[in-house]
Amino acid sequence: VQEYLCEAIVLNFEPNGDLDGRFSLFTRKFGKITAKAKSSRKITSKLSGHLQPGSFSAVRLIEKNGLQVVDALKKERVSADLDDLYRLNLALATEVAEPEIWDMLKDNSFNWRKVLRFLGWDPQGSVCGICRRGAAAFSLRSHEFLCSSCASRLSGSELIYLH
Ligand SMILES: [Zn+2]
Repeated sequence: VQEYLCEAIVLNFEPNGDLDGRFSLFTRKFGKITAKAKSSRKITSKLSGHLQPGSFSAVRLIEKNGLQVVDALKKERVSADLDDLYRLNLALATEVAEPEIWDMLKDNSFNWRKVLRFLGWDPQGSVCGICRRGAAAFSLRSHEFLCSSCASRLSGSELIYLH
């Protein structure tokens, strides 16, 4: 069985049924990866404290019908808030390395304008995709910029506000 040891920032956890769960992990080398924790509720006492969203952890993974987390050790917590990590999880493509964004999280200098630029959606000078007014937000669903008035009609969880 192929085994990997890497440092990861935990972006999200999705329970899946009663026993399993899926983690979104952000690594410097591989970008965003998803890994299962088999029967994670059973090993919750052992691993969950090390794999909370926002944790920066050393993670051991094995390749077994996809990636599976077998061990984790939390080293610290990144300062980005959980809502931003949730949105970042939606914004990142799977298995595309984004070392600049990873470094930003690690250095606690997370900034959406820079993140969007690294992802190819530069907010500089962008306008609302609906009415062409100045952009105030970015939609993670349609991948377009929106003014504050058009953005206010959408759900906040799929928007990134440009401050
Ligand atoms: Zn608009």
